[in-house]
Amino acid sequence: MRVPLIAGNWKMFKTKAEARAFAEEFKELYKDTDIRAAICAPFTDLDLLVETFKDTNIMVGAQNVHFADEGAYTGEISMAMLEEIGVDLCIVGHSERRQYFGETDETCNLKLKKLLQGSITPILCVGESLEERDAGRAEDIVKGQIKADLEGIPAEDAKKMVIAYEPIWAIGTGRTATPEQAEEMCAVIRKSIEELYNEDVADEVIIQYGGSVKPGNATEIMNQPEIDGALVGGASLKAKDFIEIINF
Ligand code: PGA
Repeated sequence: MRVPLIAGNWKMFKTKAEARAFAEEFKELYKDTDIRAAICAPFTDLDLLVETFKDTNIMVGAQNVHFADEGAYTGEISMAMLEEIGVDLCIVGHSERRQYFGETDETCNLKLKKLLQGSITPILCVGESLEERDAGRAEDIVKGQIKADLEGIPAEDAKKMVIAYEPIWAIGTGRTATPEQAEEMCAVIRKSIEELYNEDVADEVIIQYGGSVKPGNATEIMNQPEIDGALVGGASLKAKDFIEIINF
């Protein structure tokens, strides 16, 4: 039985003071719900969020991690640093990191392997560009990412993962994939997992949709059988909008 997970991705938004104001408001609003929720925040907000949410079920995630244990990697953060703070989740391979920061399927694969050795659940992002979709290559692109990113990861680890289907053309554009498009690709992802592993793993993996999810479209997206949650950018920045999505 897959338990839905709705995660916010704050990207590079919110100072510590802003994060504190959000967290206090959100904690109150979240009281009457049992849907799993998470906030993936900038590194500088993580300790504050873990502390504020400690008596709740609200999880806290990072947006990136380095694959080495430690070393001369200026500007990077290791898994041990995140584990020490008490972070539950970490986004890997978000399209903005692939596009602007040289993230590749190879580095995603190394990061997934590192996280799966420890206690932090990865949220792996995959998705095609508009050009790829228009050329009829969306499925192949996404399947290729899944295969390359999960290379060498054993079934018992793959089961623990969250995968977010995020068509690049729907991120921050206000142009959401239709529920049918999102459902179709999430089914393709689950099928790929079944082919790479087995039905049991495919049945357990949580697959989210991300890309312009907002209060007005969350219900129809969440009602799709293959979609187990959402990765929410812009609409996770306001506690009232985010709680509306969670209470879809
Ligand atoms: P968006 O971002 O909801 O603002 O489109 C989603 C994401 O990038 O994860």
